[in-house]
Amino acid sequence: MSHRITVAAGDGVGPEITNAVLRILDAAECGLVYEHIQVGEAVYRSGNSSGIPAEAWEVLRRNPVFLKGPITTPQGGGYKSLNVTIRKTLGLFANVRPCRSFHPFVPTLHPGMDVVVVRENEEDLYAGIEHRQTTDVFQCLKLISIPGTEKIVRYAFDYARANGRRKVTCLVKDNIMKLTDGLFADVFRRIGVEYPELQQEVQIIDIGTARVATQPDRYDVIVTLNLYGDIVSDVTAELTGSVGLAGSANVGDRISMFEAIHGSAPDIAGRDIANPSALLNAACMMLAHLGLAAQAATIQNAWLATLEDGMHTGDIFRGGGSEELVGTRAFADAVIERLGRAPRQLQPVHLRGGAMPRTEYVRPSVRRECCGVDVFVCDTDSTPDELAAKLQAACDGLLQLKLVTNRGVKVWPGGFPETFCTDHWRCRFVSPAVEIGAPTPNYQPIDVAAVPALLARLHEAGVEAVKTENLYLFDGERGFTLGQGE
Ligand code: NAD
Repeated sequence: MSHRITVAAGDGVGPEITNAVLRILDAAECGLVYEHIQVGEAVYRSGNSSGIPAEAWEVLRRNPVFLKGPITTPQGGGYKSLNVTIRKTLGLFANVRPCRSFHPFVPTLHPGMDVVVVRENEEDLYAGIEHRQTTDVFQCLKLISIPGTEKIVRYAFDYARANGRRKVTCLVKDNIMKLTDGLFADVFRRIGVEYPELQQEVQIIDIGTARVATQPDRYDVIVTLNLYGDIVSDVTAELTGSVGLAGSANVGDRISMFEAIHGSAPDIAGRDIANPSALLNAACMMLAHLGLAAQAATIQNAWLATLEDGMHTGDIFRGGGSEELVGTRAFADAVIERLGRAPRQLQPVHLRGGAMPRTEYVRPSVRRECCGVDVFVCDTDSTPDELAAKLQAACDGLLQLKLVTNRGVKVWPGGFPETFCTDHWRCRFVSPAVEIGAPTPNYQPIDVAAVPALLARLHEAGVEAVKTENLYLFDGERGFTLGQGE
């Protein structure tokens, strides 16, 4: 059975390494049919700011997988990152980056390292929703959804199970971001119950990243949010010894994209010296994804044997394990010659493939009731007390001013003069609490129409609202954090 796949050679070293990889895939008789598309620098320069022509989208949407060479994103000129566009448009929700050491053949500080980072690929700060709200303050919205989190967490557990891994670590900052990162950790714990054979732990991202960098052997599969995953996966890739080695998968429900983690390396392009290993490893992940796990293992074992024989490209050619300095083409020839061989010292690869099981998201039925509003106000002149007096004058019986914060710190009632204030104030209006002074205020639902009515009165009072955020109760539970000092 043949598989039709989309291929883009990419820019810089892209055509050289893609050619090397396709030759190896053909020699291993993987039964692939290639549909080539042109995306990237030439398309950007032709005036298409997305870097992807319409006819390329048709091919991308037709085939289940896309093998992509690295792309040069031209600096300036408003060009959009083609990677981000493809990930979001095609719903490639999981970024999977295995990072393994090849000691003693590739020098590394961590000889036993074998970590897979599963990064959420569509949400978080990468939604790119940013605003400048006042002269002083800029905002970037962090959006985390239940279905997005369930999907990535389940994928990480399924990946660990399918690939014989022992442990999954979730990295979050839920001590600070209690709702967004808290959701990620909660979903991890809830879904983790279904995978009792796997060790599981939740770590705070800062100490987690420090430990990944110093003791990577403690980790196996890591699952984390988009931004943290971006950073942690670069740390793990760098720790293995060369950016020229690691491949990555961008997995979606229908379509998946496979690529090297490195860029187009314009400094060495056209010289037949680039290491094709990263794209080759990505191609092996692609084969496993297509259910061609045996072919993937054959190629990876031949590749490991090539490394062991000391046939090394310039980026990994050093004293010790290196015997012969080879170029891109000669390296590919060396891998082809070793097809069918297993490595002697490095752990042979047994990839298990096939698509991961999918579960449909069922939106829970939840009672959602408005109980107040945070109004973000631009005010350059007032003290906190003066601002609060203006706001209180605009209140009615339904919504009362509860507190004012500046950059999250309470400045009214009872702020400190030492607190530095910008021109951006968060003013919380809530329904009257039943138990005044209770440790957790007991908010009461109100008609959401009270919010625009309040905004109209604030406007009449000369208060400028730059943004509002309704406060909701979900089955009676707060869907918002308390203000500092509230
Ligand atoms: P880069 O990864 O291209 O290069 C960094 C360094 O690593 C360079 O010294 C390069 O020579 C070396 N290197 C990279 N790949 C190598 C290989 N296969 N063999 C040997 N050495 C290799 O990063 P950069 O220079 O910051 O970016 C160059 C271009 O690539 C930029 O336009 C950037 O936007 C783009 N980029 C694309 C992707 C992608 O398509 N996924 C990822 C990162 C960067």
